[in-house]
Amino acid sequence: MYCGAQFEAGALTVDHVQPRMRGGDRSGGNLVTACEACNARKAGLRLADFLRADAEARRNFFLFAAPHVWPRTLRALAEELARR
Ligand SMILES: [Zn+2]
Repeated sequence: MYCGAQFEAGALTVDHVQPRMRGGDRSGGNLVTACEACNARKAGLRLADFLRADAEARRNFFLFAAPHVWPRTLRALAEELARR
């Protein structure tokens, strides 16, 4: 979802868009697939901070993930990215 590369399903991890430690739940709109490298880079970062630091991940996220992510999560993310 973040680097845009293609992987076998077995090589993917489930990423919580809003990390669980920050209140994200396991509902479908909060879950996307990410390769292990991206998931490790994102770790417990706020999504906005992760995407702000990585232009490619930002582009891929809005291209591929946005249709599957809860609208409220996207709204909060857009607001946060616009703020700084
Ligand atoms: Zn990746």
